Amino acid sequence: MDFGLNEQQRQVRDRAAALAREVVAPRAAAIDRKGTYPQDLFEAFRDAGFLGLAFPEEFGGSGAGTLGLALAIEEVAKYCSSAGLLLLTTRLATAGIQMAGTPEQRERYVRGVATGRLRGAFALTEPEAGSDAVNIATTARRDGDGWMLDGMKLWAGQATVADFVIVVAKTNPEAGARGVSAFVVDLPNPGCRIVRELPKMGVLGVPVVEILLDACRVPLSALLGEENHGFRLVMRHLNVVRPLVAARGVGLAAGATQYALAYAQQRRTFGRPIIEHQAIAFKLAEMAMGVESARLLTHRAAWLVDQGGSDREIAHFLSLAKAQASETAVRVSEEALQILGGYGYLKDYATERYYRDAKQLTLVEGTSEIHRMIISRALADGTLDWGCDANAIGGLPNDERDRARRDAMIHAAQGE
Ligand SMILES: Cc1cc2nc3c(=O)[nH]c(=O)nc-3n(C[C@H](O)[C@H](O)[C@H](O)COP(=O)(O)OP(=O)(O)OC[C@H]3O[C@@H](n4cnc5c(N)ncnc54)[C@H](O)[C@@H]3O)c2cc1C
Repeated sequence: MDFGLNEQQRQVRDRAAALAREVVAPRAAAIDRKGTYPQDLFEAFRDAGFLGLAFPEEFGGSGAGTLGLALAIEEVAKYCSSAGLLLLTTRLATAGIQMAGTPEQRERYVRGVATGRLRGAFALTEPEAGSDAVNIATTARRDGDGWMLDGMKLWAGQATVADFVIVVAKTNPEAGARGVSAFVVDLPNPGCRIVRELPKMGVLGVPVVEILLDACRVPLSALLGEENHGFRLVMRHLNVVRPLVAARGVGLAAGATQYALAYAQQRRTFGRPIIEHQAIAFKLAEMAMGVESARLLTHRAAWLVDQGGSDREIAHFLSLAKAQASETAVRVSEEALQILGGYGYLKDYATERYYRDAKQLTLVEGTSEIHRMIISRALADGTLDWGCDANAIGGLPNDERDRARRDAMIHAAQGE
């Protein structure tokens, strides 16, 4: 077993840590306050080669893989969740294209995003279909030498600055999951209109929007992968992104913990620093337990994606990491706020921003409830087990042995 990073991964982490501290951290509060997309950080990431971290060199990337990108996101998210999300969108926009795109699509969009020439968005969710994504109502129908898309998409992140958007639509509405296809829609497109920016609670540097697809015409070449096979593609696409969401949670939780620790060492009550009150020291210890366990799960999840395991084999590990890291971020950021006392509640200090930003993580890329469904199903069907024979632990209430024992007792009692 080797818990160490290789040379390339260490370099990525160290470069990201330096950029995060020197360039991202000084901007974080203002990005939140103004709620505008941080174009300067996008350019800084582009110039540092961070937009291409996850991509192979053949597409202009640096081949650091999902783990390399996760490490960079973790460093950046220690200071600014919006900046972490900005890095994540490089994969959110392209994972499916890299998996199933034509050579032309890969060359255009994957290389475009890796080099910072293009930005993409991903539009699956609709007003009446989120977790239950098979239920989407957007349709795509063949129309001469193209496709016509109609419907409404909610939540497409970063679409205000995007050059293309992946749109998931029904191509055979009667066929359920077997009638879904994905399309790459180049922007601007007169049939694809941003109706409004959604007024959200946190992660204010990356806008999310409502999109109206009204007779949105795209060429035949916009189809991503095979017609009617889009649902599985989108699920595989989301799997790749989950460790990256987890990395945002780990970074946020680590940042909140260090911030609260620094305050706990300096703030004095009843004659001593508050870290010397056991209630505060134990809070910090529990925050560290959360960060470290989420971090291990997240690094393993990213590593598993890079190993290319089948979705069935790895999906529950991705869910474990995503759910654990996002919930750790919520819990830890709340405790950090509590450690700052009343100051924690003020916009003057970072904890209220961390708290608001953290909550987004339990909702995106599968809610916490959906991840619990995936994990509990893997337990029930034996995909997730620890090689332990439950029967060897002992009998279960009302199993055959237990009944026989009880019957024997009853017979013995009756025989008396
Ligand atoms: C800030 C932000 C950014 C986003 N960015 C994007 C994006 O870029 N692209 C995109 O396509 N989408 C995006 N989303 C949408 C996100 O993926 C959805 O919000 C999410 O999938 C949940 O869908 P929903 O909001 O419709 O909730 P619903 O699916 O309606 O769920 C409502 C509640 O019921 C629970 N629930 C649902 N089904 C079950 C079940 N079977 N068992 C138990 N509980 C269940 C959910 O966990 C949740 O608590 C974004 C969301 C947010 C908040």
